[in-house]
Amino acid sequence: MATPATTETKLYDCPICIGGDWRPSAGRRETLLNPATAEPVTTVPYCTPEEVRAAVDAAQAAFDTWRQVPVVERAHVFFRYRELLLKHSEEIARLTTLEHGKTLEESRASLGRGIEAVEFATSVPTLLMGDTVGDISRGVDTVTVRQPLGVCVGIPPFNFPSMVPLWMYPLAIACGNTFVMKPSERVPRTVVRLIELLYEAGLPKGVCNVVHGTKDVVEALLDDPRVKAVSFVGSSPVARSIYETAGRKGKRVQAMGGAKNHLVIMPGCDLPAAVKAILGAAYGCTGQRCLATSVVIAVGGVADPLVEELKKAAGQISVGSGDNPKTGMGPVVNAAAKQRIENYIQSGQQEGARLVADGRAVRTHDGTHGFYVGPTIFDHARPEMRIAREEIFGPVLAVIRAKDLDDAIGVVNGSEFGNATSIFTGSGAEGREFAARAQAGMVGVNVGVPAPSAFFPFAGWKGSFFGDLHALGRDAVRFYTETKVVTSRWPTPAREHKISF
Ligand code: NAD
Repeated sequence: MATPATTETKLYDCPICIGGDWRPSAGRRETLLNPATAEPVTTVPYCTPEEVRAAVDAAQAAFDTWRQVPVVERAHVFFRYRELLLKHSEEIARLTTLEHGKTLEESRASLGRGIEAVEFATSVPTLLMGDTVGDISRGVDTVTVRQPLGVCVGIPPFNFPSMVPLWMYPLAIACGNTFVMKPSERVPRTVVRLIELLYEAGLPKGVCNVVHGTKDVVEALLDDPRVKAVSFVGSSPVARSIYETAGRKGKRVQAMGGAKNHLVIMPGCDLPAAVKAILGAAYGCTGQRCLATSVVIAVGGVADPLVEELKKAAGQISVGSGDNPKTGMGPVVNAAAKQRIENYIQSGQQEGARLVADGRAVRTHDGTHGFYVGPTIFDHARPEMRIAREEIFGPVLAVIRAKDLDDAIGVVNGSEFGNATSIFTGSGAEGREFAARAQAGMVGVNVGVPAPSAFFPFAGWKGSFFGDLHALGRDAVRFYTETKVVTSRWPTPAREHKISF
């Protein structure tokens, strides 16, 4: 048994999990740094092809037994899992902050959203119920049953180390599938701890396996004909390529991609509430979330007071280490992310947007020297600028000025992405029109981040999603199961005409 994920060794080496046994990988290692301090904390292995094959072998071997475990017993594992996640929630949140950088409050909140997905999975006996028509024809009954697919694979991004993995394996496994999880190579430690706890909850060996790595490991998983379904969350170019490759190989795919989310501010809205919502939506998780607001569209005369208030409030956000209770915004995930974000700030200046707040060279309140970018605001951005079109994935907000609601909706719908969008308005008619016309899968009215709870699908559109069935909600139940229609006839010749449902 390898060292548990929480042990405070100097450099924690992430183990792999094959057939329920944790062991070190034989692959090469990379060292991961705490984003707040740039100190090494973890080594992540890049699994060998043999290890990837062994993980699928183990998942395939466990499938025949696991699928036959009665669904109520499968649900019981997730009731116990929920309790364990709650019991260890502080420890998991600290692990997330250590490897990702987000504030402890954010780590706790995102784990809470992940636990909601486990709660959804505990309803699996109800979720798997099919349709029945007795006597569809005389003496003939038809029922639908949902059956598991087999080995499913999860490939999550770095930005939600606990929540996004929890969108995937709990429901897949509760539906009777077995699983191979490949955590983000930038935040692998939280997932190791989550799966350790899943086995502690009583999951039979081999039902959930963990391998580490990136492109090569993902390609090996996509190449394996025993893998039946792939749940991917990450950037749009990779999402599109995984959708195409896995689809070509006959696998079921749900591939969630990147985003550029717009928040429309109408004159006559509750401006202080809107400013508060924008700050949370733009700078929460340091802008590293697929529901982050990165463009505000200020309609009519609201622009000047809005930008003034935003500038004032953004300047008051204390930037520092995520485990410091006084921190309002943590670092970005690594040096490459910081560099990429700073390049975008430079491009915004070059394209002629007005830099109102510059997050480069930010000073932390606690003196830590990690990968920091402070809250940044551009005013007078235009829809064709890169800062207004491309996903920056950092604390950079572009304000576009629009003349009316029609103009604002035109900007929203001109985006290549379609994850989420919101409007702040005092008018029911405006809110209703916006909800109807906005081309995005998740729409908010007077809500900053319209993140649906686990009981609804996470419903990205356009360049933010490749597939048919989304993560979470009933979509995900359909994704992780195959429908079978069973038609039966049991003739009872003498009385047949008298017996019907
Ligand atoms: P990423 O695309 O770099 O990586 C995502 C996963 O894919 C990781 O596990 C990584 O190891 C793997 N990967 C990377 N390159 C690959 C390749 N060439 N082939 C196969 N696999 C590869 O994304 P990221 O930087 O980790 O995460 C941030 C992105 O995720 C953002 O674009 C964000 O918007 C998106 N995201 C989307 C949602 C959503 O629901 N739509 C949710 C969270 C994050």
